[in-house]
Amino acid sequence: MGKGTLRNKVCSCGSGKKFKNCHEKKESQEKIKLYEIENDMRETYSHQTCMVADELKCDCTKKIIKAHTVSKSSNLKQIAENGHVYGFKKSIMALDSNDGKFPVEKIGINKASVFNGFCSKHDKELFAIIEDKEIVFSNEQIFILAYRAISRELYLKYRSTENNQNMFDYDKGVKNVLLQKMFHDMVKQFSEGINLAVRDLEIIKNNYDNSLINQDYENIKYYIIIIDSIPEVMSSGCWIPEVTFNGEKLVDFNDKNKQFNSITVSTIALKENAGAIVFSWDDRIPCPECFQFLKSLNEIPDNNKGNAILKWMLECNENIYFSPKWWDSLDKKIQELLVDDMSNIMKLQLDLTNYHKYEGCVNWKILEIKTNLVL
Ligand SMILES: [Zn+2]
Ligand SMILES: [Zn+2]
Repeated sequence: MGKGTLRNKVCSCGSGKKFKNCHEKKESQEKIKLYEIENDMRETYSHQTCMVADELKCDCTKKIIKAHTVSKSSNLKQIAENGHVYGFKKSIMALDSNDGKFPVEKIGINKASVFNGFCSKHDKELFAIIEDKEIVFSNEQIFILAYRAISRELYLKYRSTENNQNMFDYDKGVKNVLLQKMFHDMVKQFSEGINLAVRDLEIIKNNYDNSLINQDYENIKYYIIIIDSIPEVMSSGCWIPEVTFNGEKLVDFNDKNKQFNSITVSTIALKENAGAIVFSWDDRIPCPECFQFLKSLNEIPDNNKGNAILKWMLECNENIYFSPKWWDSLDKKIQELLVDDMSNIMKLQLDLTNYHKYEGCVNWKILEIKTNLVL
């Protein structure tokens, strides 16, 4: 085969590009710098779009805003000090300079929990029912909290798909062929995982979109813990229940044909200084794993449920913000434990059983548990 033909072949790294435009000269290039990767990511996640259902996109305004996934006025403001909350600085450079751990930083409430995923009209209109109305836990309110979490998750996965393409470039300057191969295999495996997550989330999101359009919220399953204080920790997230609090493994991620459903969580402030932790999922895709996960939470004595939830949030959800007053009051050792759990991103096996270590972190007194599950 002629040299020219080889150059025009698809590169073996998996990027999909021609060899001549990909790895032909990569070895002689300068090694990638951390700040280049950081800039790459920042650019990827600055992409603006409205994640509303396709059928409603004709009403989108041109202005894509920084949409809060944790409400600013009703939730973040409640735990802020001088307009700031604490959160983890999710940056590769910060991770590098902080011993492989995410540092806790002060974040203005205008910036905390935002993503570029809704236009101004839809951000205002869709979420008015939880932003401007009293929370009474109607199916519609529970649904819309979940809709926001699912929309963010799909947005992030779409962006990650785009960023994965750039990752094929990150081995430039690496001369060792074996190292190059290992790196490519890792990126391919990672990309494959993200593609499967997108496949599943698109089906879930499509179901949510149909509910939104038809105003049919009957498929929502929920488990809501109402507490006697405003949660010191605010979060909105989405997770495939992979283990229970008892250590039972619920899913096999190697099963590529299985469609995984996701559970969402939102912490919210209620009137009269109360609060709630709202778990839910759309049951059109059966999710026995969601049920098992919540059953194991339900079995934990009430005085420890809060600490178990906190442990789970840190391990499985990065969209999390703290009351500065609360964080500063924690013992240094406890702070380190929380940071360690949050930074444990390369975990091989997730373990939620040792939430006892968090004892005393939060002292939520449970007033009521509202659920439509028979646990
Ligand atoms: Zn290549
Ligand atoms: Zn829109």
